[in-house]
Amino acid sequence: MALNETHDPRLRSWVASANAPGSDFPIQNLPFGVFRRAGSAQPFRGGVAIGEQILDLAAAVDSAVFEAAGLGPAAASAARAAAGASLNELMAAGPGAWAALRLALSRLLRQGSAQQAALQRCLLPQAEAQHGLPARIGDYTDFYTSIHHATAVGRLLRPDSPLPPNYRWLPLGYHGRSSSIAVSGQRFARPAGQVLARGAAAPTLEPSRRLDFELELGVFIGAGNALGTPIDIGDAESHVFGLCLLNDWSARDLQAWEYQPLGPFLGKNFATTISPWIVTLEALEPFRVAWTRPPDEPQPLPYLDSPALRARGGIDIRLEVLLETEPMRQARRQPYRLTRSNFRHAYWNIAQMVAHHTVNGCNLRPGDLLGTGTQSGPLPAEAGSLLELSDGGQRALSLPDGETRRFLEDGDAVIMRGWCECDGAARIGFGEVSGRIVPASGAPRHAE
Ligand code: CA
Repeated sequence: MALNETHDPRLRSWVASANAPGSDFPIQNLPFGVFRRAGSAQPFRGGVAIGEQILDLAAAVDSAVFEAAGLGPAAASAARAAAGASLNELMAAGPGAWAALRLALSRLLRQGSAQQAALQRCLLPQAEAQHGLPARIGDYTDFYTSIHHATAVGRLLRPDSPLPPNYRWLPLGYHGRSSSIAVSGQRFARPAGQVLARGAAAPTLEPSRRLDFELELGVFIGAGNALGTPIDIGDAESHVFGLCLLNDWSARDLQAWEYQPLGPFLGKNFATTISPWIVTLEALEPFRVAWTRPPDEPQPLPYLDSPALRARGGIDIRLEVLLETEPMRQARRQPYRLTRSNFRHAYWNIAQMVAHHTVNGCNLRPGDLLGTGTQSGPLPAEAGSLLELSDGGQRALSLPDGETRRFLEDGDAVIMRGWCECDGAARIGFGEVSGRIVPASGAPRHAE
């Protein structure tokens, strides 16, 4: 993939809020999501974030702006594929369709576009929108790609050998649960499960006391592969539609008791929250970085290695996690930043996740979701979970208003943000993913 006119940092949109410094959604971004007017019974449909607005793709298709602007049949066809209640059809259409639509949207939303008047009627302020899940997610797989996270967690669970012997050879993952994935705004009850108290002879069933977040990115699969046909690493990224933010909520006490020998189960599958906007790989192109493996460590097997991966397999995505407690919310204080990290530290990268997932012939399908695993950075303050930040719950974090946290309390909202910035490119962002814990007993289970 190469830089093209859609990445030009000088581009400005006729949507004024897209030109504001620090906007997550300038015209160089153009992420996709699914929405409807909040409080309405309208059908969900695809949209594109532009500044503080959403361009309604169903309305844009109906007003025939693609044809009027002479942007070619591929763009109009891709827009029609994105006009329904999920983006699976657009995802299945592949990189040619995604690029044609991105170029068309970039031209339509630029200052001076002849279609401005028609498109003006296709905008809805993001503040008035309700988001749906961007895709019907058939399967969800969560990886473990940060060696800093894996080492820190391993040290807590197995001090003598923190990293399993296979860690440096393959991108570890497990098959997760898609039914409990929801879009930002998710509220869920504190999960209950079996917990083995220290020194106890038998477990008890109780609400988790070690509820945690995990700072991750989600990877949406575009076109899939046929069962039995692995995806070559050189082709892997052409099967990736784009990335979102992902919070893999985790109940550490349930997890510690159940995880051997088959891995995560009820400690993970009660809730997963993703951001509403999917930032395409094309939008992320200016923020590519080299993927490296220190020479004194095992080098990947050939099916997990390629010159393109070495040259540009990483992405510089800045990440942060904020906590808003109930007292903070009531006092209208700003959420408190718990940690900052960056996806560039990942030990395994996106192309390797896709190539490894399919090397045995496993088929991926459009709309499948891969989690990257917790993105902890090399420094202790860059940890992507409370488990790490509190040393396994041994050290309480002090919040500015005198509260403390080892793990999450009822009423806590966790907010994750991500963005990219570098010289020579327009800054783009992911928006945010937010979710909140409500008490276990008699709690409502619904999205906001
Ligand atoms: Ca995880």
